Amino acid sequence: MLPQLPPCRALLATALGLAGRHRLLPCHHAPLLARLRCSAGGEVRAAGGGDAGGVLRHLMLKLRATGPVTVAEYMREALTNPGQGYYTRRGGVGQDFITSPEISQIFGELIGIWYISEWMAMGKQNAFQLVELGPGTGTLTSDILRVFNQLASVLSKCDVSIHLVEVSPKLSAIQAEMLTGGKVQSNPENNSAYMKGISKTGIPIYWYRDIQDVPQGYSFYLAHEFLDALPIHKFQRTEKGWHEVLVDIDPEVPDQLRFVLSPSRTPATENFIQPEETRDHVEVCPEAGILIQRLACRIEKNGGAALIADYGHDGTKTDTFRGFRNHKHHDVLKAPGTADLTADVDFSYLRKMAEGRTATLGPIRQREFLKNMGIDLRLQVLLQNSRDSATREQLLHSFDMLMNPKKMGDCFHFFALLPHHRVVRPAEKDNPQSKSPLPPVAGFGELSLNVHHHSRG
Ligand code: SAH
Repeated sequence: MLPQLPPCRALLATALGLAGRHRLLPCHHAPLLARLRCSAGGEVRAAGGGDAGGVLRHLMLKLRATGPVTVAEYMREALTNPGQGYYTRRGGVGQDFITSPEISQIFGELIGIWYISEWMAMGKQNAFQLVELGPGTGTLTSDILRVFNQLASVLSKCDVSIHLVEVSPKLSAIQAEMLTGGKVQSNPENNSAYMKGISKTGIPIYWYRDIQDVPQGYSFYLAHEFLDALPIHKFQRTEKGWHEVLVDIDPEVPDQLRFVLSPSRTPATENFIQPEETRDHVEVCPEAGILIQRLACRIEKNGGAALIADYGHDGTKTDTFRGFRNHKHHDVLKAPGTADLTADVDFSYLRKMAEGRTATLGPIRQREFLKNMGIDLRLQVLLQNSRDSATREQLLHSFDMLMNPKKMGDCFHFFALLPHHRVVRPAEKDNPQSKSPLPPVAGFGELSLNVHHHSRG
């Protein structure tokens, strides 16, 4: 099949044409009502209903005892407090906001192809771990595993395992159901994983609470809409210099919170504001920085790559902290624990954190990345193979959601960490004459898939 093409490209063309099955969406995914977390603005609604008390009560006690807390601490309590946090109790995906893998199966399929193509380009090691951070409902992993299964002949000599980093017991149960049909074992011995199972396609899956629990080894990492959920610090420039934004009790209204400025500089203002900063308001996510450093160390030491996709900016935006509940904007200080809280990812900060250890690619806009990955061809195949007009309409609608610059096409970005040797040959520096081009990294450049398309017809 397509012998004239380099193996990686032939693989992509083959995979995109494979199995034109349309995955039916569960009924709670009503894309027309969906609130995309990347769209800022809109009305702010006061919280109503639900047990709004848990995190708030806990925070009030703390604020009374020890004074204001950083926004990062507030966000961590609201999202991942072990008993009461938003992700711990509620989950959110599909309920309060909708994500790309939930919108269209094509999204996860193309990401699955990205991993296989990088695995091939980097020498087809005989084993790899796919490590996903914050897998939500498990839909993205499930779509990736379907591609791995369809390309089983390519991966036949490779030992693949799946490693999911998830703090939410509620979401890990949903993931277990989605990926294994619920056949999982809790707390396996001799292992840092808190749960394990076997995918419907026969691949072992492990669950962890922290990336540091995931075994070292040749790995491909994935973080989709994960970094935006990590706690941020906020800083405001004033006439008297930089101050950190803190959360405190509002003395005027019982049980209400408000933002205040730290009276003096805090350790965070010393560490996170660059002397050359020109903005008046800055958000920094140190946990994202630490995570990127960990991934970069692992990739430098053991090989592999990381693909990070999220909404964000390149060090230019200011106040992006916002809340979502039931697909509506939600006041971030109201009823913590009942709404999703999120902030744009600063890719310039991530790049700085990886510096020296790995090469980075991107951020590149979602619509460009998916186009480079062959989304047009994949859509055509699915359209051709779908019999009824409702399915075709659904396919076109979800394609529009992912690609339209006004929807997810422009505000979501892809960013990758890769070993230096994947991007620049070591010999090139000393001997520029010996340049044999490295295969391009899929998604980040044109893959001229239309060539394959024509040659197939
Ligand atoms: N990637 C999914 C879900 C995004 S929502 C999708 O695109 O649909 C964020 C996910 O990260 C949830 O699964 C949430 O439970 C998880 N999460 C949030 N904070 C986390 C943390 N500190 N450690 C591990 N997982 C976390």
